[in-house]
Amino acid sequence: MSQYWSSLVHRLTPYVPGEQPKLPDLVKLNTNENPYPPSPQAVAAMQEELGATGASLRLYPDPNADRLKDAIVAHFAKFAITPAQVFVGNGSDEVLAHAFMALLKHETPILLPDISYSFYPVYCGLYGVEHRAIPLGENFEVRVDDYARESVGNGGIGGIVIANPNAPTGRLLPLAEIERLVAAHRQSVVVIDEAYIDFAGQVIPTAIALVNRYPNLLVIRTLSKSHSLAGLRVGYAVGNSLLIEALERIKNSFNSYPLDRLAIAGAAAAMADKAHLEKTRLTVMNSRAALTSALEALGFAVLPSAANFIFARHAQHDAAQLAAELRQRQVIVRHFKLPRIDQFLRITIGTDPQCQTLVGALREILGQ
Ligand SMILES: *Cc1c(COP(=O)(O)O)cnc(C)c1O
Repeated sequence: MSQYWSSLVHRLTPYVPGEQPKLPDLVKLNTNENPYPPSPQAVAAMQEELGATGASLRLYPDPNADRLKDAIVAHFAKFAITPAQVFVGNGSDEVLAHAFMALLKHETPILLPDISYSFYPVYCGLYGVEHRAIPLGENFEVRVDDYARESVGNGGIGGIVIANPNAPTGRLLPLAEIERLVAAHRQSVVVIDEAYIDFAGQVIPTAIALVNRYPNLLVIRTLSKSHSLAGLRVGYAVGNSLLIEALERIKNSFNSYPLDRLAIAGAAAAMADKAHLEKTRLTVMNSRAALTSALEALGFAVLPSAANFIFARHAQHDAAQLAAELRQRQVIVRHFKLPRIDQFLRITIGTDPQCQTLVGALREILGQ
């Protein structure tokens, strides 16, 4: 607290990111990073952009990142989107933040699942957006009808934000249900945060397939998880061009150059390398199946996951204590001290050797 702070700063409750430990030898399964390196073509494109002298860095980057938008359009060629339907930002967190200010800040509250990405209520606090929490079902599933019920007879809503697959549960809402949600709320913007959708199946059930039919749908994506580029900070949104224009208006009132030259070059090449994405996402999905079986054999109940992490609880052992004991064995996982989920651990899918280290440590802790 300080007399120099604005009243807004006094009121904020900031997001707390997962730990990024300085110790090198930890098995780090706490922030859903990809354990595999990014596309070699992305690395080469960044090296090429940098060149021998780094001379290109003298110049500002393209404020519109057209090269990246073109690569995103090409990546989703089968959905026939145009560059005017694409917005790019410094991580999807920034894209989300702009969406809250540009499209979700109205007189009426927005609807969020009670258990979801904990950054959403933080943006509500920052931008003064009221929100109502809609409880997930007993098995942590999003129930689409509950949203319609909440928005009727309550003076309308300012929008809806859903992570699909949801975080930290990993549960997927089928595309048909997403469509039902978007169709039932045509008067407001529905944001679908698809940070983990590339891990959702052989065929990726993305809501980008719907954007040309629903002008109220905004799909937000990141290169942090499936493209192994969390350190580069690139996210994007796809939707109707009028929604994108709103995001551009906010961006150009805030920071004209959210993506630097290396990020534009690397992200464009990563989007073009579909073979690399395919290989790593299928590897992670196979490891997820193996880790799920191994944890079930140790007495964990594991929610069905469509993401690069699993959400698991043990019938006999306290989750916070398990997390602490794993840490003593150099394995870090995420535990949330929150209602309904405080007996769960969220465990990122690592390489198979990392998963085996985790299972070995748990076996020791559980005395099995
Ligand atoms: C990781 C994550 C993000 C943020 O991704 P960045 O692009 O790294 O900012 C957004 N939404 C959800 C649900 C996430 O898990």
